[in-house]
Amino acid sequence: MKAIISHDIDHISIFEHTFKDAIIPKFIARMHIELLSGKISLREYTLRWTDFFKNKWQNIDELITYNNINNVPSSFFIAVNRGVGLNYSNRAALLWIQQMQKRNCEINIHGIEFDDFERICEEHSLFKSLTKSENFGVRMHYVRNNNQTYSMLDKAGYRFDSTEYAFKNPYKIGAMWEFPFQIMDGWILENGKKWQSLNFKQAKENTIKIIDKAHQENLLYLGIDFHDRYFSHSFKTWLDWYMWLVDYLKNNNIEFVNYNMAINELEVNK
Ligand SMILES: [Zn+2]
Repeated sequence: MKAIISHDIDHISIFEHTFKDAIIPKFIARMHIELLSGKISLREYTLRWTDFFKNKWQNIDELITYNNINNVPSSFFIAVNRGVGLNYSNRAALLWIQQMQKRNCEINIHGIEFDDFERICEEHSLFKSLTKSENFGVRMHYVRNNNQTYSMLDKAGYRFDSTEYAFKNPYKIGAMWEFPFQIMDGWILENGKKWQSLNFKQAKENTIKIIDKAHQENLLYLGIDFHDRYFSHSFKTWLDWYMWLVDYLKNNNIEFVNYNMAINELEVNK
């Protein structure tokens, strides 16, 4: 089994959110719940206010550097449309796309359009024109999908999708590869709540269970989604969990690949 780690970019700055989209009030409520329930320290709580005043809600550069040191190819999903609490502009996205291109990352689209074929195609071509890339995949924001989504993504020309959560090997839908994923940071750390509800030890135990299950199911690739936003000391458990996970996989001789490397392997072995 190899691991594919990828990162969804849900936020870039804090003030891209107006009070209308409720993201800032939710952020403030969440950190108070987490402080009062003992899930975060006073230092983390203070650092969250620091992020707020620095207007910084992404950690893309820091994460790429960490990944490079650990031989993890950085693979990102970045959005070109707004929706469901995701509110950055194309201008902001493009600055980061250029930065990620310079640092040799794999860049894919964090999709907003999932249920209208015309809009899916528009989103696809907007991304194509911004990145000047022909060859990219998609993961839907909040993994939104219906029973038409995947076939519409295939018809729109995506090379792959990684929206499905399942213990299954990659498979083809038309010409598109579907890469189901098995580990999502928020589903582990929040465990059904809207705030961090597990401590580091519990998060590790639950993650090991998933990795063991992936082994039992003979998965070729373990899909992991970690949001760059949490690669920060202001989300210390998330940061510790990610660094522990990379180490754990390395210590278990699991190699890291990105989607394009995996597709090349799958197509050679066909
Ligand atoms: Zn998202």
